Amino acid sequence: MDKVLVTGATGFIALHCIQQLLDQGYQVKGTVRSITKKNEVIDSMKKNSLHPENLTIVYADLLKDEGWNEAVEGCRYVLHVASPFVLEEPNHEDDLIKPAVDGTLRVLNACKDNRVEKVVLTSSFAAIGYGNDEKIFDETDWSNTDSTIGAYAKSKTLAEKAAWSFVNELPDQDKFNLTVLNPVAVTGPMLSDDIGTSNTLFVQLLDGSIPACPRIHIGFVDVRDVAKAHIFSMTAEKTNGERIIVSEKEMFFAEMGRVLKGAGYDKSPTREIPNFMLKIMAIFIKKLSGMKRSVGRKVVSDKSKSKELFDWEYITAEDSAVESAKQLESMGLISN
Ligand code: NDP
Repeated sequence: MDKVLVTGATGFIALHCIQQLLDQGYQVKGTVRSITKKNEVIDSMKKNSLHPENLTIVYADLLKDEGWNEAVEGCRYVLHVASPFVLEEPNHEDDLIKPAVDGTLRVLNACKDNRVEKVVLTSSFAAIGYGNDEKIFDETDWSNTDSTIGAYAKSKTLAEKAAWSFVNELPDQDKFNLTVLNPVAVTGPMLSDDIGTSNTLFVQLLDGSIPACPRIHIGFVDVRDVAKAHIFSMTAEKTNGERIIVSEKEMFFAEMGRVLKGAGYDKSPTREIPNFMLKIMAIFIKKLSGMKRSVGRKVVSDKSKSKELFDWEYITAEDSAVESAKQLESMGLISN
């Protein structure tokens, strides 16, 4: 069976990609940037996958050249999922931009040298819908890196643009196929105890630490559908050269709070903080600084391309969120 490299194997999305690949019979290599995390991935697959024996873990850091050639060697497909994902603004934007952009180019160079057939890159809706006026965003849109969109959105936009330029400029004999996925906020069950950025935000929605929601409107999609989209795109020729928004639906945080409250999570906030107050609070609370740009904007995406290309129905945002809540509760991280 074909061998697939998944970068950033410890991550929330990557673990689901690895699990689905192993369960479909693929040989999988995963990269970690700290070899001490090797067992975290292996233990997760021993618990969650039918074929953990087909997984090998290798070391490679997006900030370093070493390891990428060996990681890609022998792989027919590469899912490049790794990238720093943080909501707080870093001290310097390059802390996110360098690993995202330089790391993507390191991975793609190794793919070229090893004659990989296809790469699926995990970009983000943050590369599409940020820093522009409100509209229904589609795959022709790009976030505006000349406006103050925040380091994370900038890192994803620049990394995706770098990937398309790299592939488009390859001489014919070196060309390989690229599909880019642009997921919105990802929810759903975790396959390890590391709760990561997505679920940290979710814990705050559930544990009473946020008394009221910022008026933020974002898309949601389940992690299993995001992983499925990666694996489908890996072999589906019709996705070659496409960017694809991956989103089930958009909701205001307060609407999500009401879904969670309806499922018995009584501490979920259902009221909204006035926009001006959040903007003032963000001056003093660093954690909120990344959010203030999204406040008050109704962000909507056109989902028609994914509906046309993907032949399955997404798990609903509501079901996914409630499942996340149940898991976080069973881990003792929140209480009703
Ligand atoms: P995680 O934080 O769980 O995973 C990020 C992965 O990237 C981790 O494995 C992390 O390794 C790795 N990584 C970070 N920096 C480096 C580095 N310098 N070298 C090597 N590996 C590195 O996030 P997600 O799984 O949620 O996100 C995965 C991808 O999906 C990212 O590209 C993110 O931008 C994108 N995405 C995520 C969305 C979401 O809501 N979760 C939405 C849209 C896009 P380590 O464990 O060592 O930190």
